[in-house]
Amino acid sequence: MASTVLFASVEYEKYDASATLPAKFDRLLDQMGLEDVVKDKITAIKMHVGRNIGYTTVHPMFVKILVDKLKKFGARVYITDQEIRGARSRGYTEEYLGVPIVHACGVTGKYYYEKYVDFKTFKNVDVAGHIHDAEVMIDFSHVKGHGACGYGGACKNIAMGCVTDRTRAQIHGLEGGIEWNEELCTHCELCISNCNHNANRFNDENKYELNFHHCTFCQHCVKVCPSGALTMDANRYEDFQTGMAICTEEVLKTFEPGHVFYINFLTNITALCDCWGFSTPPLVPDIGIMASKDIVAIERASIDAIKVENLNPAGVVKGKVLGTTGHLFERLHGKNPFVQLRELEKRGLGTQEYEIVEVK
Ligand code: SF4
Ligand code: SF4
Repeated sequence: MASTVLFASVEYEKYDASATLPAKFDRLLDQMGLEDVVKDKITAIKMHVGRNIGYTTVHPMFVKILVDKLKKFGARVYITDQEIRGARSRGYTEEYLGVPIVHACGVTGKYYYEKYVDFKTFKNVDVAGHIHDAEVMIDFSHVKGHGACGYGGACKNIAMGCVTDRTRAQIHGLEGGIEWNEELCTHCELCISNCNHNANRFNDENKYELNFHHCTFCQHCVKVCPSGALTMDANRYEDFQTGMAICTEEVLKTFEPGHVFYINFLTNITALCDCWGFSTPPLVPDIGIMASKDIVAIERASIDAIKVENLNPAGVVKGKVLGTTGHLFERLHGKNPFVQLRELEKRGLGTQEYEIVEVK
């Protein structure tokens, strides 16, 4: 059965505040079923507060609308992220928002609950204490591209943002993709000069190093290598997304069924994650806001709404050669963004079948 995804579009029908996105967001929140769940509950808003001089995270006005709505419904609210030092510079302040903004792992960064998984080298899911202690979570995500998994939305906000550095490192440790055989290599460096993405180099010890984030798996390096020293192991870049799904499952297990809500902001959809600490032009025009109780459905609906035919070339870094097949994010980053959905769905966390209900 299809899951419902509420949708507030950026399109507007008249020159009137009530027809614009903040007003629609307020009405969308009324339709999410929050009121029945959050009363008297400790409710964490998990968002990405951004870094450095990035200016394209979710505008504080929308955060305030959400906070005020939750408080009106009787929730005990706080905002949390795995790094909050940059919050003030984007206007996320306790004075304006009227709720605490706390580090997900506490002031020491060491407050977490350890869970165990067994996927290759990924063993420890350290669920951040202030996520684990919450009774309700609003997974409040800014949708954008992501160099390590193609797309960053609700799943990324949990898997990378509700855990410790150790867990993030273990998930990143699943990356890889290009194997280098030192014995076959003649150090001709053709693989370096033929990489359009600055994704490979020889380090100080003359060992081949791959930057997984930048690598699009175009295989130019593999194809130009005259000695067969490079081979591609495609499964490993899928492993990163599998790791994210496993991590998300463990975090979600700490909540009672129906106590996590997902809100995806499809505005300022940039090429890279907000953790880079800078902003670039959007890849496509703004789309709107989606909300659901189903993480898989909202992720699928969000990815589907970002279409290659709407590409704004200014959003792509100069000189970047896009791939010719697959989703826009796959053409940009070389990683199929649907893998994470497949893995979430496999774990029973939702369905890719969705029905859009537009909020006017
Ligand atoms: S696969 Fe493509 S992007 Fe990755 S290192 Fe090789 S040439 Fe560079
Ligand atoms: S192209 Fe092949 S042989 Fe030449 S440096 Fe790269 S890996 Fe080594």
